[in-house]
Amino acid sequence: MSINIKNIHKNYGSYEALKDINLEVKTGELLALLGPSGSGKTSLLRIIAGLEYQDQGVILVDEDNFSEKHVKDRNVGFVFQHYALFRHMTIFENVAYGLRVKPKKERPTKKEITEKVTELLELVKLSSYQDRYPSQLSGGQRQRVALARALAVKPKILLLDEPFGALDAKVRKELRRWLRNLHDQYKITSIFVTHDQEEALDVADRVVIMNEGEIEQIGTPEEVYESPANSFVYDFLGSINIFKGRMEKGKFASGAAMFNIQNGIGNEDGVGYVRPYDFIIEKQPSDKSSIKSIIRHIQKVGNTVRMDVVRTDLHESLEVELIKEQYSSLQVKQGDIIYVKPKEIRVFS
Ligand code: ADP
Ligand code: MG
Repeated sequence: MSINIKNIHKNYGSYEALKDINLEVKTGELLALLGPSGSGKTSLLRIIAGLEYQDQGVILVDEDNFSEKHVKDRNVGFVFQHYALFRHMTIFENVAYGLRVKPKKERPTKKEITEKVTELLELVKLSSYQDRYPSQLSGGQRQRVALARALAVKPKILLLDEPFGALDAKVRKELRRWLRNLHDQYKITSIFVTHDQEEALDVADRVVIMNEGEIEQIGTPEEVYESPANSFVYDFLGSINIFKGRMEKGKFASGAAMFNIQNGIGNEDGVGYVRPYDFIIEKQPSDKSSIKSIIRHIQKVGNTVRMDVVRTDLHESLEVELIKEQYSSLQVKQGDIIYVKPKEIRVFS
C-alpha cells in the first residue's frame, strides 16, 4: 500500500499546523517523521488515520481516496506513546480485542482468534505473559503488546506516534532494532513519528524532517545526514559548530581563518557548519584554515574524547570530537594551545 499525501493543510483556529504537505510513502516502506515538538507530526498522522480532518488536500492510498473514508474503514493500525492497553483485560484479551469486536460477518471463529493471538504473542516474544495484566508488564513489554494488538486486525498501514517516547534509553534502542526486524518480516507500509534524530536515522528507510508545519527535507538517513538541505536540518540532526563569517574572493572568512568551501553562497554573510568529529587537530598550523585554540575541557566517554576548545581570535568555543587513539597520540592536556582545522565546512546564507 502506497500513501500519497497531497497538499495537506490543517489549521487550528488561526494557527497553521500543517502548510501544504506533499509526501509519498512507498509500499512496504518504514518512513520516519522527524521534527521538534509542535512541528505537526501528530497532526499529520491523525489525518492519515482519520482521527482528524484536513482543511485542504487529499490522502490517496493506492489511488483510493482515503479522505472520504471513515476511520473504521481505513484499516489502519495505530500505536501511541502512552500504551493505551485495556487495564482490566489480560494481555491475550488485549491483543484479541480488535478481532472480537469485528462485525459478525468478518469476525474470525474463536479458534482462529486463539491461533492468531498466539502467533502474534510469539512474534512479540510475550507468549508466556498472555495471562498477565498490563500493570504486571514493563513499559517496553506493554508497547510490544500495543504493537501486537495493532497488527492483529491485519492493517494495511501502520502508524506509530512516538511509540518508545516514554521508555528509557536502553529499552528504546532495543525496541527500535526489534521494530525494524518486525517490519522487515511483515513489510507493512509504516509511518513512525519521533523527535529523536538518532532513532529516526537508525530505523527508517527514509526520513522526513518537519519544522513548523512544513517539510524541510526528505531522504534516506544517509542523504539527510550527509547532505542537509539547509541550516535547520543540519542543526537538528546532530551537534554542530557554528562559524559566523562572510564570503571573500571565493573563500569563507571567519575571524582570522579562511576556508575553501564546496557550496559557495555569493558575496555575502553566511554561517558555516562543522560537525564535532570533522576536524583535524594539529600542534602547528598548516594553513589559514587552522584555527588557533586553547583546550578548556577534556571529557573521555567510551571510545570518544570530547574537547571543549576556545578559538583565540573570536573567543568562541568549539566542540571537537576525537577517537581515543587519535587523542592519545596527540598528547595534549587542558590549557594547551592546539590548531583545529575543519575537514569540511558547509556554508548557508
Ligand atoms: P508534534 O506532534 O510534531 O509535536 P502536533 O501535530 O501535535 O505536533 O501539533 C502541531 C501544532 O498544532 C502545535 O503547535 C500544537 O499546539 C497545535 N495543535 C495540535 N493539536 C491541536 C488542537 N487540537 N487544537 C489546537 N492546537 C493544536
Ligand atoms: Mg506529537
